[in-house]
Amino acid sequence: SEALARAESLIATIPDFPEPGILFRDISPLMADAAALRAVVDAVIEPFADAFDVVAGVEARGFMLAGAVAIAAGVGMAPIRKAGKLPRPAASVDYALEYGTASIEMSDDLPRGCRVLLVDDILATGGTLRAGQQLLAELGLVCAGTAVIMELDGLGGRDVCGPVHSVFRV
Ligand code: 5GP
Repeated sequence: SEALARAESLIATIPDFPEPGILFRDISPLMADAAALRAVVDAVIEPFADAFDVVAGVEARGFMLAGAVAIAAGVGMAPIRKAGKLPRPAASVDYALEYGTASIEMSDDLPRGCRVLLVDDILATGGTLRAGQQLLAELGLVCAGTAVIMELDGLGGRDVCGPVHSVFRV
């Protein structure tokens, strides 16, 4: 649609951030635009309409998307946080970064069997969303789908996390 094409055009591409050689995609201008945000939130939800009970977003840009998706879809939201931020972490998953490892954590706030839509802003190598999927499984939650605003092609993310719904691919 025209609204989605405009939304995509608002994603900024920044060379050499956060390190030389990285082409960083910045979704902030898209999120700042009411019509673009609305179009992207609707596009994220569309394949999963009525098929999830709650949305979980990965810190930190995934929180912004998850909050908007929650209100638009009429569901609650749950944060997936970097290690050490939650007062009552119930599960933790370690995953590999380019250099070293990271951990993400989640609280035990959702009933077992709850259908969770897992969202983040960008799919790159897929390590983050794979860890998110494992976290849901550890807590006895059902991953109803995995969705991102933008998928960076050629980094193998899809091979790591399985089918991912991406609104934009670049
Ligand atoms: P992955 O684990 O798939 O390699 O990386 C995805 C995670 O890193 C996401 O949480 C995402 O926010 C962040 N990320 C990786 N590359 C980019 C990028 O170009 N732009 C933004 N905004 N985030 C990125």
